[in-house]
Amino acid sequence: MSEEKQVKVHVDKVNKSYGDNHVLRDISLDVMANEVVVMIGPSGSGKSTFLRMLNQLEMPNSGLVEVDGYDISDSKTDINKVRENIGMVFQNFNLFNNYTVLQNITLAPVQLGKMTKEEADQRGKELLKTVGLSDKADKSVNSLSGGQKQRVAIARALAMDPDIMLFDEPTSALDPEMVGDVLDVMKDLAKSGMTMIIVTHEMGFAKQVADRVVFFESGKIQESGTPEEVFNAPKNERLQTFLSKVM
Ligand code: ADP
Ligand code: MG
Repeated sequence: MSEEKQVKVHVDKVNKSYGDNHVLRDISLDVMANEVVVMIGPSGSGKSTFLRMLNQLEMPNSGLVEVDGYDISDSKTDINKVRENIGMVFQNFNLFNNYTVLQNITLAPVQLGKMTKEEADQRGKELLKTVGLSDKADKSVNSLSGGQKQRVAIARALAMDPDIMLFDEPTSALDPEMVGDVLDVMKDLAKSGMTMIIVTHEMGFAKQVADRVVFFESGKIQESGTPEEVFNAPKNERLQTFLSKVM
């Protein structure tokens, strides 16, 4: 094995418009294996569109998007294969409310033939332990708090054994007292070496966990750097204004 760091996500000069709304403007970003990148920026700046593009939930109008070495801007690429390696966690959990907690976690790996039912049950229970919800396996999702639901959503994504985890404002819909437990799970995941791209307004978390912070504004990456650089010595005026509002 080469010691060279592996590029997990390679985005080169990507543009995306909805009608005449030019949402992503010449975005280029590389994310390396084991790196944790936190994306910050005002609402409407294109952060979700960017994340969704990495999963081909959106297609760019121009530019190159490579994930795990696959060109996902090429229609010949088997996107389902790529998606198996990308876990995504959304603001609103997107769980199957009529299933139990464990069923939510085992459904995809069993349906896609990655594991037998027994293997998936066992792995699911391990993951529930990791996210602190061992006692909830057989409960209905409806009976959980928002913070618990989000931890189930993380466990569900991990059940596919992804190479990359994408998080789009995972704590924005939670009551404040629930936020810490979810962030703790994400911190553990970062420590375990998972490659992560996280959109969040939790600046304290970003400072602690990010290898790199990327500031989006008006569809552009206006500045990026270490948390130290971005939070303590922001150069871009728009970033300075943004930080003065959120910190
Ligand atoms: P952020 O996540 O930073 O708040 P988004 O990526 O959600 O920003 O949105 C960026 C811009 O794209 C906004 O102007 C939004 O209204 C627009 N937009 C996002 N998704 C769609 C869509 N599916 N159709 C049309 N416009 C969209
Ligand atoms: Mg968003």
